[in-house]
Amino acid sequence: MGVGDDDAGRADGPPDSDLAMEQGPDELDRSLPGTLQPLTRPGTPRALLVSPSLAADRRWMGRAFERALEARSLDEVPVGAVLVQHDRLVAEAFNRTRSGPDPTAHAEVEVLRRGAAALGDWRLDGCTLYVTLEPCAQCAGSIVLSRIRRVVYAAPDPKAGWVGSLGNLLQDRRLNHRVEVTRGVLEDGSADLLRGFFRERR
Ligand SMILES: [Zn+2]
Repeated sequence: MGVGDDDAGRADGPPDSDLAMEQGPDELDRSLPGTLQPLTRPGTPRALLVSPSLAADRRWMGRAFERALEARSLDEVPVGAVLVQHDRLVAEAFNRTRSGPDPTAHAEVEVLRRGAAALGDWRLDGCTLYVTLEPCAQCAGSIVLSRIRRVVYAAPDPKAGWVGSLGNLLQDRRLNHRVEVTRGVLEDGSADLLRGFFRERR
């Protein structure tokens, strides 16, 4: 993600894109086998039909979103991330490129560092990373190095994302590690937060 670099990065926030249209939450729900349970009773609220895995994704992304709000309160580009293992929180962080000042202090790198410290191991296999914005090239590369099993992100980043937008470092067969990817969980809220942040600063 191009956080901390308003001019070259997402000066306009993450604009609507083809990817965003293809991978909206509703599309995603349908594309994931097993995420929707059979309709047992007519009129059952849709929320009750969502499997625990999608419910867990939304819950953890909600926590990442809270970290993004924390970043915004500090006038940082609002991106948050959490690292989870066996449905337990390992670490959480937010973008702090401005307060660092540190051009590499994206939420994902921050949460990887904290997670490795918490687990006492640089290998984070078995962990899932939730982040409110599609990872940039730096963060996608760091995620591959960490051996993380799965990444879930909310909003696409057509200008800097390397998990589907400009390329896909997490699923490149030439690399020695590939990562499962889920897109679009709480996408609208995360994208709106970024748009609002940049709009206020124009
Ligand atoms: Zn990044």
